[in-house]
Amino acid sequence: MIILREAGKDSFEDNRDKGISEMRLHRLELPTPFPVGPVNAYLLAGDPLTLVDTGPKTVEAQTALERGVAAAGARLGNIRRILLTHGHTDHAGNAAWVAQRSGAAVYLHGGDRAKVAGQRGELEHLKTFVTQAGLQNNFVESITSQIRSVRQYLDPLSKVSPLTDGEYLPLAGERLRALHTPGHSNGHVSFYHEDGVLVSGDLLLEGISPNPIVEFSPDGKRIPTLPQYLQSLRRVLLLNCEVAHPGHGGPIANPSARARESITLHEQRKEEVAAAIRRIPKPLAGICEELYQNLDDLNRMLALSEVIGHLDLLAEEKRLAITRKKGVLQYKVK
Ligand SMILES: [Zn+2]
Ligand SMILES: [Zn+2]
Repeated sequence: MIILREAGKDSFEDNRDKGISEMRLHRLELPTPFPVGPVNAYLLAGDPLTLVDTGPKTVEAQTALERGVAAAGARLGNIRRILLTHGHTDHAGNAAWVAQRSGAAVYLHGGDRAKVAGQRGELEHLKTFVTQAGLQNNFVESITSQIRSVRQYLDPLSKVSPLTDGEYLPLAGERLRALHTPGHSNGHVSFYHEDGVLVSGDLLLEGISPNPIVEFSPDGKRIPTLPQYLQSLRRVLLLNCEVAHPGHGGPIANPSARARESITLHEQRKEEVAAAIRRIPKPLAGICEELYQNLDDLNRMLALSEVIGHLDLLAEEKRLAITRKKGVLQYKVK
């Protein structure tokens, strides 16, 4: 069993779980400049010494990371492997910084490779999406400038080893299994230990429904992130985990219940979206306006991501008709 320890509270030697496993997991809570609040990195003791996620590239997060690793009885320079749950800045921002100080290899799923490589194609696809949603240029500019400003918190990674679904990762004579769990991010991976422990990144969070943010394949095709996300949650249900260690907040004691709650919530919201487009076709921006009031630009973007996801679910069920009016897509349930 992996045991969660708050960094600084005890050491690797203090063994609450004798005989089951030598693997030990330390949560390192790191500050971020983002509305989400602190992010978790996890130090997995044993050979090879492993860091899961790294925090954003800020002096504050780097200091907290160094202190957290030291409080767990190790040094940054001892880290041999960095596993990234996904390529978002709050998780991957310091990976290059840690790799440079330790020589550790960085592992990430190929689906998030572009996010950490500093590639910029995504913004063009986003512009097209937002215009087709019925929003004006000033919104597009506001969102793209906000996305650009977040990039300062991530050092681009030039060398990354790919993680593949189902891959076993040795750790202290045991194994972690990488599970591709896309949706929140296309290359999102969770790490599963056979004792029923899941290091779950942003797949499962307590009190927040992780937003399946709109995302595109390299050729500009929009990825159906919410259907993927629900698929990933169903996969977690099959694991019947005892505990999940998430990307934000403390451990989740009943991951299956949390996954079920999230699936039900999206099912309800999908029906709310369906009700809003029962009579007349509406553009995506109009549906968001109706369902969520007083949104600032960032939250409007999150609302667009969420509602397009529910429209994707309706499309999967063959309940959606899409037409085009002056370049703007209009949605109606059949
Ligand atoms: Zn994320
Ligand atoms: Zn996150």
